[in-house]
Amino acid sequence: MQLADASLLKSDAYIDGQWVAAEKRFAVTNPATGAVIAEVADADAAMARHAIEVAAKAQKSWARETAKTRAMIMRDWFNLIMQNQDDLAQILTLEMGKPLAEAKGEIAYGASFIDWFAEEGRRITGDILMPHQHDKRLMVLKQPIGVYGAITPWNFPNAMITRKVAPGMAAGCAGVVKPAQQTPLSALALAELAHRAGVPAGIVNIITSSDAAAIGGELCANALVRKISFTGSTEVGRRLMQQSAETVKKVSMELGGNAPLIVFDDADLSVAVPEALASKFRNAGQTCVCANRIFVQDGIYDDFAAALTEEVKKMRLGDGMEAGVTIGPLIDAAALEKVAECVEDALAHGAEAVVGGKRADLGADLGAGLETTFFEPTILTDATPKMRVFREEIFGPVAPLFRFKSEDEVVGLANDTIFGLASYFFARDMARVWRVAEQLDYGIVSVNTGIFSNEIGPFGGVKQSGVGREGSRYGIDEYLEMKYVCLGV
Ligand code: ADP
Repeated sequence: MQLADASLLKSDAYIDGQWVAAEKRFAVTNPATGAVIAEVADADAAMARHAIEVAAKAQKSWARETAKTRAMIMRDWFNLIMQNQDDLAQILTLEMGKPLAEAKGEIAYGASFIDWFAEEGRRITGDILMPHQHDKRLMVLKQPIGVYGAITPWNFPNAMITRKVAPGMAAGCAGVVKPAQQTPLSALALAELAHRAGVPAGIVNIITSSDAAAIGGELCANALVRKISFTGSTEVGRRLMQQSAETVKKVSMELGGNAPLIVFDDADLSVAVPEALASKFRNAGQTCVCANRIFVQDGIYDDFAAALTEEVKKMRLGDGMEAGVTIGPLIDAAALEKVAECVEDALAHGAEAVVGGKRADLGADLGAGLETTFFEPTILTDATPKMRVFREEIFGPVAPLFRFKSEDEVVGLANDTIFGLASYFFARDMARVWRVAEQLDYGIVSVNTGIFSNEIGPFGGVKQSGVGREGSRYGIDEYLEMKYVCLGV
């Protein structure tokens, strides 16, 4: 690692503006080499409880600051992040594996939420309503919800934190963040920069831990925490919602997806192919909005499959720190196993791997005890709904291509899932574009483009993909309570 500023690499938890060691530590490894890159404080429930109490105290004075003061501090934080973009990207690639160029993109994407919500915080407004009686005045105030708990995943170690912390900070809340065990270093580097930017002690606390259930349990059970914001699997999200029920917390949940990507006969293949590639293989297929099922209409199935295969053959698998690498390793051995099983299941049910289809033994010469988790970028043709890849989120670089005949048929197939996060389709007929966009049962519909994420559009799912929206002008509502004031005059 060659950081311009080595002091961005932290290994203790960040509580009340201080770096706090724990009795135990856990290892963070580089998935591209298997090497240990840091030993990080392994916080327990008592440390989480302490952080919650600290946050509750700090939040009161933070809420009394003007929105402008909060915005100026956030703006300094944003600037520091962008000034340290290269270092932050290196830390991210080393702990997570995505190619450095993608990591840099994530740092800018993550920072965009801080920039955006600094501004949105100054535009929180209430209402004055027409009263029902002459001697009454009716108003709606918006106030910070208080302390929130944020639990974030490893696939976007930076942006999934800023997408929660920025609206919380702008709204006048204080947070306790538990980053994923695999990727705590990006979270700690963000905290260091928040500290330098003058974010007051206690407003952002980072609890690193290998015991997610203990920290999650405390965040959900503690009555001081008024909101839980989670990004991760549907299974864990369900559990957090159940645990939050006891103290009736507000929750927002960004959970799993099973994104359809539909290519209609009238699609422009020169657009559909590169955009499908970007949607499917970004982050080695490890995003909850990656195309999971690619449905291609009969008339262009063969052309699309051939063109996509050509592009996939050009991808370069390897260590994300190396120049020219376009696809990195999977996060860990369990992820590799899951992807391999999904592919085996598809092959056993009649699919054909026209490219890839197996793990790559890159880095096999690293030395004893070091294992890597590379899977070859893969295209499976002749996929059918009987296969696991139809029902389950693959979370890997595997593109199953399903053949369909009619619009009605494919809309039915696309909606035949418990999930409802992102969907994509490619078509040029305007009437069809409207029809299909309206019929897809998803929180996000991406038409003729494979990349839609930014700070401006509302990100979130329907059905078992979650509740609430992040980013956009709606995202700050998740951190605000509405108070109705009825004034007798
Ligand atoms: P993934 O399968 O992508 O790792 P998870 O839902 O398991 O997704 O993880 C997302 C986040 O949830 C991580 O920070 C992880 O540590 C945390 N997590 C996992 N299990 C629990 C749990 N029982 N309670 C609270 N948080 C959890």
